[in-house]
Amino acid sequence: MKPLSNTGLVIDEGLIFERSIKGRKGYSLPELDVPEKDITEILPKESIRDELRKFPEVSEVDVVRHYTRLSQLNFAVDMNLYPLGSCTMKYNPKINEDAARINGFARCHPFQGAEISQGALQIMYELGRYLCIITGLEDITLQPAAGAHGEFTGMKMIHKCLEKRGNPRKFIIIPDSAHGTNPASASLCGYQILQLKSDERGCVDLKALSDLMTDEVAAIMLTIPNTLGLFEESILEVVKIVHSKGGFVYMDGANLNALMGKVLPGSMGVDVLHINLHKTFSTPHGGGGPGAGPVAVNQELAPYLPVPKVKKDKDRYDLDFLIPDSIGKIHSFYGNFGVLLKAYSYIRTMGAIGLKKASETAVVNANYIQASLKERFHLTYDRFCKHESVLSDKFQKENHITTMDMVKRLIDFGFHPPVVYFPLIVPGAIMIEPTESESKQTLDDFISAWLQIADEAENQPELIKKAPHVTKHRRLDETFAARKPKLVWSPDK
Ligand SMILES: *Cc1c(COP(=O)(O)O)cnc(C)c1O
Repeated sequence: MKPLSNTGLVIDEGLIFERSIKGRKGYSLPELDVPEKDITEILPKESIRDELRKFPEVSEVDVVRHYTRLSQLNFAVDMNLYPLGSCTMKYNPKINEDAARINGFARCHPFQGAEISQGALQIMYELGRYLCIITGLEDITLQPAAGAHGEFTGMKMIHKCLEKRGNPRKFIIIPDSAHGTNPASASLCGYQILQLKSDERGCVDLKALSDLMTDEVAAIMLTIPNTLGLFEESILEVVKIVHSKGGFVYMDGANLNALMGKVLPGSMGVDVLHINLHKTFSTPHGGGGPGAGPVAVNQELAPYLPVPKVKKDKDRYDLDFLIPDSIGKIHSFYGNFGVLLKAYSYIRTMGAIGLKKASETAVVNANYIQASLKERFHLTYDRFCKHESVLSDKFQKENHITTMDMVKRLIDFGFHPPVVYFPLIVPGAIMIEPTESESKQTLDDFISAWLQIADEAENQPELIKKAPHVTKHRRLDETFAARKPKLVWSPDK
């Protein structure tokens, strides 16, 4: 396979200041037809800026090209496969963006009152019902702004429910394969974490769970499928053990992209779960937001949902603030409405059958990659995966080639590197999640690139050690930009 670059990382773009030519302008004004005045006669002194030294003097096309080139420095799913596991950075159909921009929605204001917000309230109500159907749970809040925020909301509800029963309890059990936000959210709610080890199949070790589970444990937080991309096969036993001691089962449903229409968490005995609309339900989230992390609950936890709740009475929608046991408000207004709109539009355009097919395809795609690569890259847990597959650099280590070296080489083939070195229980992890949107041709190109890298690791290790070769910069200091950001441009330096 020939190295190919469709990433903007080859673009050599300097600062716009360096393009400045004295006297060049990006505008033209009509001739002055009134007497000229000095600016100090018109504006108060404090409003007048000091002279801008060396401000770039550029034309319109200079500006457009500069910023367009800068925009290409970022890799995007609109350019090529973006295999970021545990995150469902999938392609989001543009029609859902259009829906979120419809004027009546984009310009409505949360203060305008229920009587003239019926359409917006109806969308939220119906989206809530769809998500309850998809998860098999009873009731829902759409307010949380992210997955971690949803976890926090869920933990708060569990805490309040147990407090009402007489004892909020002390501990939350979390497997060693969990997403890092899980222990953080539980700890923010005042709980201590008990770490649960995984067994040789990458699942909960039932014996270890039984030993940890006491009547001081408030809940278990389980990511399903877990961050190894594996389904928790003994979920029914897990639920039984936790419930038998009066604890709750919290499911981290961020990876719902593998489960839609196939698994009903509510029927498995899950009490509460959050969904990442910005992962599974069509909001791009590479830039860090905004997102939405709705939390669905069973009947027992429903009285503790945040206020306000959208309610429906005959044909009228309204907001209910009078929920006596509610944990209160957890976001301004009702959350990130634009994200909710996209999710609604996505669910309606896909339909029940389409959603199920999306999950099936996402899982088939991940298994196709896993089956094609597992001879050449070590697979710790050799079973069918769900949405993602976790390989490692164990074979390549013999030639002193690491995961980091190989994903740098992958850039030369025009692909974004996958998540690496996570989960921690797989040393040198390479976590690949293709999602449902990728065609067999794209997956085959991706697989060929990896197979070539496996060959190179054996025959030309020095080539990989120096990768990437096609980019303007090679190996950047991984932490320098975060620790010592250069935020101010100074004309004199
Ligand atoms: C992404 C993710 C989270 C956190 O979601 P945010 O929206 O980033 O806060 C939690 N758990 C799992 C399994 C995830 O993949």
